[in-house]
Amino acid sequence: PAQNPGYPVPAGQQPGYPGQQPGYPGQQPGYPGQQPGHPGQQPGYPGQQPGYPGQQPGFAPPPQQGYPTGPQAPGVNPPNGPPQGGYPQPAGGVPQNGQPMQPPSGGEVVSYDDDVPDENPNEEEPVPSAPLLENMDNIQGYNNMSFNNATVPPPPAYDEVTQDNPPDRGEIKTLPVISESEARDALLGFVAQNCCYGKGAAQSMVVRDRESTSAFHYTLETFTEGRHTAWAYEGFRGQPVDGPQNGIPPAPWDIPAAPNQLFLNGKVAVEVPHTASVKVCHTCLGACKVRCHRCYGFGRVRCSSCRGSGSKSHMRNGEHVTSRCTFCHGHGRRRCNFCHGVGMVNCKTCSACGQLKCFIQLTVTWINHVEDYVEEKTALPNELIKSVTGKTVLEEQYPLVWPVTNFPDPAINQASNTIVQKHRTAFASERILHQRQKVRLVPVTEVSSQYKSTDFKFFVYGDESKVYAPEYPQQCCCGCTIL
Ligand SMILES: [Zn+2]
Ligand SMILES: [Zn+2]
Ligand SMILES: [Zn+2]
Repeated sequence: PAQNPGYPVPAGQQPGYPGQQPGYPGQQPGYPGQQPGHPGQQPGYPGQQPGYPGQQPGFAPPPQQGYPTGPQAPGVNPPNGPPQGGYPQPAGGVPQNGQPMQPPSGGEVVSYDDDVPDENPNEEEPVPSAPLLENMDNIQGYNNMSFNNATVPPPPAYDEVTQDNPPDRGEIKTLPVISESEARDALLGFVAQNCCYGKGAAQSMVVRDRESTSAFHYTLETFTEGRHTAWAYEGFRGQPVDGPQNGIPPAPWDIPAAPNQLFLNGKVAVEVPHTASVKVCHTCLGACKVRCHRCYGFGRVRCSSCRGSGSKSHMRNGEHVTSRCTFCHGHGRRRCNFCHGVGMVNCKTCSACGQLKCFIQLTVTWINHVEDYVEEKTALPNELIKSVTGKTVLEEQYPLVWPVTNFPDPAINQASNTIVQKHRTAFASERILHQRQKVRLVPVTEVSSQYKSTDFKFFVYGDESKVYAPEYPQQCCCGCTIL
């Protein structure tokens, strides 16, 4: 943009735009070239061209802490600092090969005994940084925003229970009881799946007793919506800018957003209408490029192989011999690999756009909170019940469900009451959109049997007749227990 005076100025950049108070905010003593109320007047400061949007007082971002302060204050210049006066500019000022250059100002770790520095050993590229909060506009209804998501609690009152009474719940019917042969077949199938289980026991065992019961699996799902707001920014490439001049931004919970599907986790980010503006990138000050952090902007670095001397000495036949450094071909310096000799790299903060579109972003998050409870009377581990098929005997879906009260097993009524009450208050920062509860009946048959002189029990459970038989007498190899 700095090289493009004819670049369209978005509506939010007109003089008189709210938030553009005259007077340069955040002025720090010692800022280079700083004159009260006249930012951007340093020699070589980007944005000096007539018509550049950053020329209105107060528009350009203030220097950040640690901003390079020139040679008079060494030691505070980050390697990624923006170019200073006299420093090569991206357009026309890019260092040319073979021309000695002035060292950039304020480099604290650079030692110059030639015209190039040692390469910065830190390979980490400077990360993009958020603009300063004090440069953000005041947006009605969105005060105290930061660049980190903050929870927006839902409005206090919304539709509570939509039904006065719990729905009519039919009677729960009993489950079919499995026969001895079914139990034996199930056990044989189970043995067949376990390579080291002998099938003799399953074939010739004597079944002494079978007891069929029902396990109950209660589940409550509470589907909630949470909303967060934060400042966000992206490189400005001419995309639409919907600023406060277009109206008062809607409140966070008034912005329409709907989940794709109920009871499914999801997330969506929306730009809050009428909150956007365009600002000069605070990292590159509109130049789109920043100084290369590896070569400090020189484009070349001292050869690390010969330490800049261009030659190397070694012993040959008992004599010191000096030969040309093969790494740098005797130049003592080499091109910076990171910036390919240019000395500047693209600004990551603005994606080399030079300007940032800043806006408030609303993040809507849908979460399905699931909690369940298993009532099972036998020695079968309760967790096994959750993964098998059963028969759904109760299923209800309402904005807010009623606890189950009429289930034949009081343990389920109690569990439903406890979990429903808990979910009513557990997600205070979210809004409950919908709830769903169900009870599944899972058949469990406990079989007492005998093989030779060994008594053992096993369980057949679920519609798919899964078997749980930790006492099975014919377990052998692979480190299994032999009973
Ligand atoms: Zn470089
Ligand atoms: Zn060398
Ligand atoms: Zn930038």
